[in-house]
Amino acid sequence: MTPLRAIKGMNDVLPDQVGRWQRVERLYARVMSLHGFRELRTPLLEPTPLFVRAMGEATDVVEKEMYAFEHHGDALALRPEGTAGAVRAYIEHSVSQREPIVRWWYAGPMFRAERPQRGRYRQFSQLGAEVFGDEGPGCDAEIIDMLVGFLRELQVPGVEVVVNSLGGAEARARYRAALVEYLTPKASSLSAESQRRLTTNPLRILDSKDDADRAAAQGAPTLIDVLDAGDREHLAKLREALDALGTPYSIDPHLVRGLDYYTRTLFEIRGAHDKLGAGSTLVGGGRYDTLVKDLGGPAVPAIGFAAGLERLLIASDLEGPSSVVDALVAPLGAKAVAAGLQVARDLRGKGIRCEVDTRGTSLKSQLRRANALGARIVLILGDAEIAAGAVQVKDLAAHSQETIQRDQAIRVVVDRLIAAGRTVDSPVKASATDYTAPTTPEEDTP
Ligand code: AMP
Repeated sequence: MTPLRAIKGMNDVLPDQVGRWQRVERLYARVMSLHGFRELRTPLLEPTPLFVRAMGEATDVVEKEMYAFEHHGDALALRPEGTAGAVRAYIEHSVSQREPIVRWWYAGPMFRAERPQRGRYRQFSQLGAEVFGDEGPGCDAEIIDMLVGFLRELQVPGVEVVVNSLGGAEARARYRAALVEYLTPKASSLSAESQRRLTTNPLRILDSKDDADRAAAQGAPTLIDVLDAGDREHLAKLREALDALGTPYSIDPHLVRGLDYYTRTLFEIRGAHDKLGAGSTLVGGGRYDTLVKDLGGPAVPAIGFAAGLERLLIASDLEGPSSVVDALVAPLGAKAVAAGLQVARDLRGKGIRCEVDTRGTSLKSQLRRANALGARIVLILGDAEIAAGAVQVKDLAAHSQETIQRDQAIRVVVDRLIAAGRTVDSPVKASATDYTAPTTPEEDTP
C-alpha cells in the first residue's frame, strides 16, 4: 500500500526541531509578559464572513487563499491570521467595558492556500499581539522597539524596520483616487492581475512583485503626500519616539500590506535577504483604528502585528537545546530495572531530566544511548551496587566515576549538574547553595 503523506505545504516538526521552536516561543512569551501582554487563545475555525469583513473581499487571502467550506449549512474557515479572531473575541466578551487598554498576545497555526516555498507554507505559525484602546503613536513606537529587541534576542542578523503611514479613512480614499488617476493611463502596461486591482483594490498594485507593475508604480503619488494634519502629526510623533529610543527604521512611502484594515502606522520588519530570500518579511503589523467598529464593536483604536515563526527560525542563529536529558540511569540486567526506576523517580523529584534504559542491555550500549541523549551523568546499577545500597555515578564530561550511597547520590548529581551550568528545574533551581539535601533517608532508599 502507498503510504500516506502530509498535505503539501503542511509540515511535521520533528522533536529534533521542536527544541528551537520552543526556545523562540518561550522567549516570545517572556517578552510579551515583560510588556504587560496576556495570552489569548481563540478557535482555529471561525465563521468565514468574519475574515471577509475584517480583511476585505479584494485581498489575496480572502479571494484565493482561505480554507473555507460549508459544514451543516455554516460557512466556516480555518483562520488565515489572528487579528480577526482577536477582534471578534474583544467585541463578543465586551472587554472594552472592563479594561480601557487591552494588551493581548497569541501564538499558533494559521492556514493559507499559498504556493509553498521556503518560508511560505500552507500551515504556518504566527506569534502576534494586539493592543486595543491606545491610539498611539507612543504605543506604536514601543511595539516596534519591542520587536527589534525580540529579534536581537533571537540573534537575527540584518534586521531592518520599514515604516509608512496609510492615514485615516479619508486620506486613504483621497489616495486611492490619486493612484487610480495616475495609473489609469498606464493600465495597458500593468499585469492582468493589477489591471483588475485598478478597480477593486488599487493600493495592492504597489505591493506587486511584477516588474511591469513596479515600473508603472515608480513615480506614483505616495500616501504621505495625501495625509491630513492629524495623520502627519501621528507619524511625526512616532518618528520622534523611535529616534529617542534609538530604534533604527526607514520610511518607505510605498509600503502597503496585503490586508485592507490598516490605518495610519504600518510597518514591516525584515531579516537578512541571503538567509530568507524572497520571504524576508519576518513581521508585519499596523494600526487598525476602525476595524473594531466595522466588525460591530465600539469605536476603539487598535494596533497589532504578526511574526512568522518558521521564518524567524530560518533567520535566527539561535541554537536548539543540546541535550534531551541530563542523566541516564543504567540498570545492568533485568533485576536492577526496578531499582533503576526508583532512582530515576528520585532524580526527577529534584528536577533532573533523566531516562532509564529499561532494556537491561550491556553497559556499552547504555553509554552509547547516554551520549545520543546528551546526558552528562550516568548512574550505573549492577548487582553489587544493589546489594551495597549504592550506585556508581559516572560523569561523562569529567571522565570520573565513583561509587556513592544511594541516599547521597541524588544530591551529588544535582551539585554536579548545577556546577556544570545545567539548569535543574524546580524545586532545586537557583544554585547549589539553595539546595537542601533530602532529610528523610526513606525518601531515597528502596
Ligand atoms: P501577514 O499576516 O500576511 O501580515 O503576515 C505576517 C507574517 O507572517 C509575515 O511577515 C510572515 O513572516 C508570516 N507569514 C505570512 N504568510 C506566511 C506563509 N504562508 N508561510 C509562512 N509564514 C507566513
